Amino acid sequence: MNQSPTPSASALEELPSIDEVLRHEVVQAIRLNAGEKRTIEIVRSTVAKVRREMREASGVATALRSDLTERIVSQIAAHWNDVSARRTRKVINATGVVIHTNLGRAPLSAAAVDAVSREAAGYATVEYDIEAGQRGKRGEYVEKLLCQLTGAESAIVVNNCAAAAYMILSVFAKGRDVVISRGELVEIGGDFRVPDVLTESGATLREVGTTNRTKLRDYANAIGERTAILLRVHPSNYRITGFTEMPQIEDLARLARENKVILYEDSGSGALIDLAAIGLADEPVISESIAAGADLVSFSGDKLLGGPQAGLIVGRRDLIDALRKNPLYRAMRVSKLTYAALEATLDAYARDAALEEIPVQRMLAATEEALETRARHFVKRVISQFGSFQNVLNLEILAGESVVGGGAGPDISGETKLIAISAAKLSSASMERILRKNSPPIISRLQNDRVLLDLRTVNECEEEELIAGLVQLAETAGSS
Ligand SMILES: *Cc1c(COP(=O)(O)O)cnc(C)c1O
Repeated sequence: MNQSPTPSASALEELPSIDEVLRHEVVQAIRLNAGEKRTIEIVRSTVAKVRREMREASGVATALRSDLTERIVSQIAAHWNDVSARRTRKVINATGVVIHTNLGRAPLSAAAVDAVSREAAGYATVEYDIEAGQRGKRGEYVEKLLCQLTGAESAIVVNNCAAAAYMILSVFAKGRDVVISRGELVEIGGDFRVPDVLTESGATLREVGTTNRTKLRDYANAIGERTAILLRVHPSNYRITGFTEMPQIEDLARLARENKVILYEDSGSGALIDLAAIGLADEPVISESIAAGADLVSFSGDKLLGGPQAGLIVGRRDLIDALRKNPLYRAMRVSKLTYAALEATLDAYARDAALEEIPVQRMLAATEEALETRARHFVKRVISQFGSFQNVLNLEILAGESVVGGGAGPDISGETKLIAISAAKLSSASMERILRKNSPPIISRLQNDRVLLDLRTVNECEEEELIAGLVQLAETAGSS
């Protein structure tokens, strides 16, 4: 190997070959995880990039082959770290946003996790009848349970609530009219736009009323030969307050019956139980909508319900049967993993144990006093582990608010106690980034130039990892 400095033109000749780089022990270790093809691709692109950099950087007079190899290998390692970090990874959600769409919405209950990993991950009875020893009915258990919990005649499960809405509108209103109040033509987090879904389903939108007031008469006047559905959409993350009016669902149900059209309520968040006790008085309770006469109600599995991503539809048997028979159902049905998680989640509701067992419900139910006690204990434990990095980070407990998120009320939040972190030597933006790059990543709130942690959304079994992340942060702050 030529170890002497070489002039710029021949420096390029010192670039190691792809094979040489591949033999490097660091690259060999990456290859074990990444596999042959991906590794070669990263090596090729990195060598090409370094070659380009050398060509462009005029005046690079010298290059040692060994230095170039190290430079390439360290870029390869960084690239692979970056690629790996983009896998679906567990994070600690310290934001206080309970249903955080970017962080996977509802965390599953222990029973749901167990059902997925123990019962559903391998071969399972998703469509097999053990008694009869032959093909069985898909989703039977969950559908029955949904009927019992909501009082509906029938139920069906699809991929998410957007799919549920699309399927209902498409099956029952293609080429016909759907009547909806102007106050409900909303966009709900995650790009769900009611008018767009309507258009795509082939239905024609008939807007009635005004943004703030729609009367029963407005709906009645809009009903004609072509009308298939009266659609009510829970505005979820949007509220109009002040001079407002909307007809009662009972009255809409009567109007729909008289005119032989379907009353469909897209309920969104899906409260199976009255959540007024935990500050969510505005959420429509599914059983109440059914009792009031809605023909179909759809809601999400992974919002307030606290289960896996799914779109749950309950309502009249003849309508649900028509949905099941439609080819769209085949394209929108859910997997065995979803059924298993949903069954375990709904079981908790059947046992009246949702507030204790479903993480979303438990987090929303936590009182400010309980969160304050928890925050104080937590801060003590963190400080006791700072060791020689005492006083590098300043931890304070502040009053603040948690957010329900995920399309529940926009301003619906709960009083909480936040842990505010500051440091003399590190900006809050740097601290937020360091926590985010922790393993597991710790997602905090950056607000008014402060890093804030809300323990409401942190599982107690994650506290150790969170403490370790903060100790690491103190060490970084202390040595910078
Ligand atoms: C969230 C929401 C949806 C979309 O539900 P996904 O399960 O995310 O598809 C539809 N309608 C309403 C009213 C919602 O709140």
